[in-house]
Amino acid sequence: MTDDKLNSYHAAETDDEFVQRSYFVDELSGTDVVIVKARQNRPNIEVESCPFCPGGLEAPKSYDVYSFANRWPSLGKNKCEVILYSPEHNSSLFACGKSGILKVVELWGQRTKVLFEFEDVQYVLIFENSGKEVGATIMHPHGQIYAFDRIPKVPLNELCLAKKKCQLCKIESPERTLFSNTNLISFVPIAPTFPFEVIISTKSHVHSLLDFNDSFNQDLAEHLEKVLGAFQALFEEPMPYMMWIHQGPIKSDLVKQAHFHIHIVGIWRDLSVQRYIAAGELGSGVMFNPIDPLDAATRLKRVMR
Ligand SMILES: [Zn+2]
Ligand SMILES: [Zn+2]
Ligand SMILES: [Zn+2]
Repeated sequence: MTDDKLNSYHAAETDDEFVQRSYFVDELSGTDVVIVKARQNRPNIEVESCPFCPGGLEAPKSYDVYSFANRWPSLGKNKCEVILYSPEHNSSLFACGKSGILKVVELWGQRTKVLFEFEDVQYVLIFENSGKEVGATIMHPHGQIYAFDRIPKVPLNELCLAKKKCQLCKIESPERTLFSNTNLISFVPIAPTFPFEVIISTKSHVHSLLDFNDSFNQDLAEHLEKVLGAFQALFEEPMPYMMWIHQGPIKSDLVKQAHFHIHIVGIWRDLSVQRYIAAGELGSGVMFNPIDPLDAATRLKRVMR
């Protein structure tokens, strides 16, 4: 890391004003937008001085998994966290193996509980951007958590739709089912937006990680290893993916509608060929997916171990 980059990295630590955030609603479309002014100055950290490696700026001690407040929060201070999956710089969530992923799952549960203890937190979103193509700026394997002061539109919409009938309590079609163990099921949804899209869901109507016991945690770790392994094996190179966890807003009545699930979307339609959301889709809200979900399921099952 050059001195300039290092200085700019440190600057955010001391000066909270360094990051200016404003929450807007676009009245034309109803879209919620947070403007985060300082984020354009975020450095691209080079490998020699990775701040996430043990002994680095953010992780001074040795660790298996580790969480800390993001220096570059998109929301308020301490409302954005970084979750380090492994001390190994060139690892990935998949490469942590089932026992390593289990530690990450347990940490997700702990951080969910802690973040909900903030009086103004209404929703906890755990997510990961894996790969440069989806905007990861530091290659060390990590995910993030955003703690929102409101229930964001996407999970809110799902919770409202579930008032009529919980879609995740239905039996999934065997053709699109990828894997199943005692407590959870992985499947390709019937109308996916992305070429390779998977949902990992609890079989019973469980609201959040706070309701998980050891058996659920272990079953979830097994699913993540299977699904991420299939994403990695599908092409000659690991496919960049985005992953986010939808769990219940525990302080709201809507929590009753919440059925725990994880969305994982692979963004390639072919090796290194990215699927972009195009104008016709943005303009209409109608998605045009180039891959048949049954084909996607067949191909993912073929490479799943
Ligand atoms: Zn590192
Ligand atoms: Zn349900
Ligand atoms: Zn969802």
